[in-house]
Amino acid sequence: MSNIIKLEHVKKQYDDGFVALKDINITIESGKFYSLLGPSGSGKTTILRIIAGFSEPTEGRVLFDGQDITHLDASKRQLNTVFQNYALFPHMNVYDNVAFGLQLKKKEKNEIKKAVKDALHMVQLDGFANREIAELSGGQQQRVAIARALVNEPKVLLLDESLSALDKRLRKDMQFELREIQKKLGITFIFVTHDQEEALAMSDEIFVLNEGKIQQSGSPVDIYDEPVNDFVARFIGDSNILNGRMVKDFEVEFGNHTFECADAGIKPGERVEVVLRPEDLDITSVDKGKLHVRVESQLFLGDHFEIKAIDTDENEWLIHSTNSTKVGKEVGLYFDPEDIHVMRFGESEAEF
Ligand code: ATP
Repeated sequence: MSNIIKLEHVKKQYDDGFVALKDINITIESGKFYSLLGPSGSGKTTILRIIAGFSEPTEGRVLFDGQDITHLDASKRQLNTVFQNYALFPHMNVYDNVAFGLQLKKKEKNEIKKAVKDALHMVQLDGFANREIAELSGGQQQRVAIARALVNEPKVLLLDESLSALDKRLRKDMQFELREIQKKLGITFIFVTHDQEEALAMSDEIFVLNEGKIQQSGSPVDIYDEPVNDFVARFIGDSNILNGRMVKDFEVEFGNHTFECADAGIKPGERVEVVLRPEDLDITSVDKGKLHVRVESQLFLGDHFEIKAIDTDENEWLIHSTNSTKVGKEVGLYFDPEDIHVMRFGESEAEF
């Protein structure tokens, strides 16, 4: 697969002096689904705007197909953006909204007609051409916005929090549909979201962003299973994070016990932080557990129970279990060695 977009040492300082992006290096390959994932204010939209050409970096370069486009006008870039509020024209019907870009380019009427028909078919809005925008649901408006972008046959589609206005059910459907559209067309999608579940479900690759820096990039599985620092471990999914120390290779100490673990590449004696995911913990009898905890609370969440428990050192544990337990009960916690993820101590975002 070839690289289609590259950001090299991109820095963005706004006029008021605020540095929104510090040193962003990103490579985007063609035909993949990417997410820019981070909390509010982390710089996701700033990156998207720089790629789209609505904003220029203070330092660094943007390459598209190997060409330097850092200062190229947005309208000349082979990409389209779907905005959070869809930015549809409310006084035009669906057809005119989708046709707008092609009409502006003075394309032939029949060509426009066919392109609009194809784009509406792609987003499953056949037969909606004459509807007014106000007569559409949020999900349908979202699809019109995507059709309006697809009609230009962009090489890259940028989507800025474009599912955030939808309710949960519809959002899940659209996640699936977007992914299907992307696969079918084989164009590159770059999707901005603060929702980690959404990014995990949809992406080939995720860039996790915090305070203007990429914290980690990789496949959803890599990022979930091997978070490189505290920030990523806490931001992606729920985590139990405990202080510990490497005893020797394949052995780590935490909670006053030593445990076999996978190779962490960290020297014996070094301080570490240990991450254990709630769904990797099993509740068992006290004698079978590797740790001993007391159940403090239990919530039923539809497909699992979320259990909070306290160990003998007063560490709080979060456990996801398909079985219920009793509040106040003393139980054992069991986990496999490969589910213990060890990070060097203090490997916080500040060091990246
Ligand atoms: P959100 O999810 O809330 O949209 P984001 O991750 O997309 O957040 P950005 O919109 O990229 O974040 O903003 C990054 C930082 O830059 C924020 O602290 C924001 O306040 C700041 N910022 C954005 N635009 C400007 C501007 N024009 N002038 C000064 N600061 C700005």
